[in-house]
Amino acid sequence: MWSRFFMIHRLIQSCLGLLVTRYPSPYSSSTSSSPLPEIQFLEQLFSLCDQRIRVRELATVYHKHDPFPIYSIHMGNPDPKTPKIAFIGGVHGLERIGSQIVIAYLETLINRLEWDALLHHELENLELILLPVINPVGMYHGWRANGNGVDLMRNAPVDAEGKVSFMVGGHRLGPWLPWYRGRKNEDMQQETQILVDTITEYLLPSPFSMVLDCHSGFGMEDRIWFPYAGTSRPPENLAEIYALKQMFAASYPNQNYIIEPQTHHYTTHGDIWDYLYKNAQRSGNTFLPFTLELGSWRWVRKNPWQIKSLIGLFNPVMPHRLQRALRRHNVLLEFLLRATMSFDNWLPRGKQRLQFHHAGLDCWYDR
Ligand SMILES: [Zn+2]
Repeated sequence: MWSRFFMIHRLIQSCLGLLVTRYPSPYSSSTSSSPLPEIQFLEQLFSLCDQRIRVRELATVYHKHDPFPIYSIHMGNPDPKTPKIAFIGGVHGLERIGSQIVIAYLETLINRLEWDALLHHELENLELILLPVINPVGMYHGWRANGNGVDLMRNAPVDAEGKVSFMVGGHRLGPWLPWYRGRKNEDMQQETQILVDTITEYLLPSPFSMVLDCHSGFGMEDRIWFPYAGTSRPPENLAEIYALKQMFAASYPNQNYIIEPQTHHYTTHGDIWDYLYKNAQRSGNTFLPFTLELGSWRWVRKNPWQIKSLIGLFNPVMPHRLQRALRRHNVLLEFLLRATMSFDNWLPRGKQRLQFHHAGLDCWYDR
């Protein structure tokens, strides 16, 4: 019942996405040649950066001669032996709030670098990588998919183990339908490839790394999903994920994120994090990818009229709610940064790892 309701919700959202080309922006315009406000604001922030922040233009996607650069921002210690953490936004172009959270966090960090000795200490001991706008053309149009109509989060070369949720699980019928995976045996889309390459180059060689990929659009609660998306079996790092969950709950007892496997809700082909997570198993390093799914229905419930605009289905529209969304997740981002730097202090080992694995099975899986 729940999953059917969810699928209808997604279908309506995605179909509406095909109709919308313009949306309001919280950012002022700038001299950037890119028409996307998020990129304009990012480039304004880059003008404030010094050599402690390494900005890379990974590619520029063009649409009707307009440039849409895809940037990565690196801060901290690039030594492959240091732990790494990446914050990702804008994989689904409709879900702008994910990008805005990552960009707001970058703005905070740029300013804290001026005075915050604790931040300096963190950055000596880890590397932080931000990919705030992976799908800029989709974001410009207000599409979930990229400019070719491909859903990047169904586009990785990995098939689900068993049946997937109808349509929402990914299909190859064509780009006119939402959740299109792209053609069989075709290369990954440029945006997917950039994300995969960046994580593979910088995170997977590290002994410990984490990702938080920021999305929105599901239910009333803020959820943090972990692999797998393509199978209901538990991930190899269930013990580590359970340890992190317990540590977060104990350290920040008033937080109310729901942490769970994605397959509690639906199963998909082509999930980028499944693909990278499976690759990471061969390295022997610990790689924990999480997806933040902000509960956008809550914003609609408080302000029902915003359902008439597409942006309102996925994003906070009222300025005070946008402001709240941009500040409330800082606790989570800070926690993940500290947990990454301190991974040696909490990763379960030996007998405790086995205990945590069984506790994770009891918590999330039928046995
Ligand atoms: Zn999404």
